[in-house]
Amino acid sequence: MAAKLTKFSFATLARKALEGHKSWPQQWPQAEPKAQYDVVIVGAGGHGLGAAHYLAKEHGITNVAVIEKGWLGGGNTGRNTTIIRSNYLYDESARLYDHALDLWEGLSQDLDYNVMFSQRGVMMLAHSVHDVQSFKRHIHANRLNGVMNEWLTPQEAKAFCPPLDISSTARYPVMGAALQRRGGVARHDAVAWGYARSAAARGVDIIQNCPVLAIRRDTAGGVTGVETAKGFIAAKKVAVSAAGYTSVVMDTAGVRLPLESFPLQALVSEPVKPVFPCVVMSNTVHAYISQSDKGELVIGSGTDQYVSYSQRGGLHLIEHTLAAICEIFPLFSRMRMLRKWGGVVDVTPDRSPILGKTPVSGLYVNCGWGTGGFKATPGAAHVFAHTIARDEPHPINAPYTLDRFRTGRLIDEAAAAAVAH
Ligand SMILES: Cc1cc2nc3c(=O)[nH]c(=O)nc-3n(C[C@H](O)[C@H](O)[C@H](O)COP(=O)(O)OP(=O)(O)OC[C@H]3O[C@@H](n4cnc5c(N)ncnc54)[C@H](O)[C@@H]3O)c2cc1C
Repeated sequence: MAAKLTKFSFATLARKALEGHKSWPQQWPQAEPKAQYDVVIVGAGGHGLGAAHYLAKEHGITNVAVIEKGWLGGGNTGRNTTIIRSNYLYDESARLYDHALDLWEGLSQDLDYNVMFSQRGVMMLAHSVHDVQSFKRHIHANRLNGVMNEWLTPQEAKAFCPPLDISSTARYPVMGAALQRRGGVARHDAVAWGYARSAAARGVDIIQNCPVLAIRRDTAGGVTGVETAKGFIAAKKVAVSAAGYTSVVMDTAGVRLPLESFPLQALVSEPVKPVFPCVVMSNTVHAYISQSDKGELVIGSGTDQYVSYSQRGGLHLIEHTLAAICEIFPLFSRMRMLRKWGGVVDVTPDRSPILGKTPVSGLYVNCGWGTGGFKATPGAAHVFAHTIARDEPHPINAPYTLDRFRTGRLIDEAAAAAVAH
């Protein structure tokens, strides 16, 4: 039975405050699996929950289960540094990530849940002549695609982000920056929770602590359902959104994917008063930084050099990241770090996702987001739901086929950006 959606109106908030905030109902029920669904989605991250929301809301498909091996949002959705931007190089990427950005701008209203989307601007630092040329190329390509992106001189970059060291003696000299003012950050847990409660209110079952062990196919090769820790669940369609574990899940259906799984780390500092007004990325020295609403500096590091499912990364990587942060922002050199964690990211050879149908009838996949899929969450989930509902890709995700690794029609953001948070 569908959960009742609490409306977060001013009147409700005021009434609940007067009641001491003791009577808030559960936001989504803990569902047990039914025997059969129209669609089973594997993985309750933002992408899986978002697809369930759009399936129910835009396609009227509500006999849906989202099956999660742990707790919802406990994967990369709850582990990332929340950077949102759309200034990717290629036309296909511009369409996909800008579609996501359009949806981010209305997401809190759509879900009636504050995802704390903050368009504080994402600034990418250029430290070498190569960076300058590459970023300017991006800016021109973005503008041709109607994607907002602009070039800043070092002085303009400093004015936008005062803690930045632009002195000529800096170890990593700042030669300018690309700024996307429309970019920013959002609260990652809230994205998962907002999609979950909206989907549940429309009749979707969210089943946690239930690993999917195998995808089952009939003798004709089509999907019949999934084997789980809670038994077999029949499904007309199965959609996999399992991030770093996608290749393992898809392998059980006999589909091999060109994915490698790497640990990727992030860390936060002790909380301080507001000091950092935007998001800054430095691809060259591999450091990303913003400040959370709690006051912590949120810092992103790089992937390990070797494949692993360990969900923690090597210490030397965060040491390198912090050394770079201290060089670029000497102001932070005496701050203490509070905690660090890792996630397992799924990386394709061209660093673009695989998003759509598979060679198996009734089986769909949304994966390969690597280090940068949080920003795509609403856009990817939206076009994935379209693909599942109609059994054909949306024009935006049509190029993101598995087949491109056979035909060579790559969307090579790896060569374009080196990294892709
Ligand atoms: C440290 C870090 C920093 C990052 N920073 C950024 C950033 O700044 N900006 C950005 O855009 N992106 C960033 N990313 C990437 C981003 O987090 C991911 O691309 C995105 O969250 C993927 O969302 P998802 O819903 O596909 O995956 P997830 O949230 O990982 O969801 C997949 C779910 O599938 C579940 N699952 C796996 N196997 C099974 C199974 N067998 N049965 C059932 N369930 C299963 C998992 O438990 C998980 O909950 C970062 C990632 C990390 C780790």
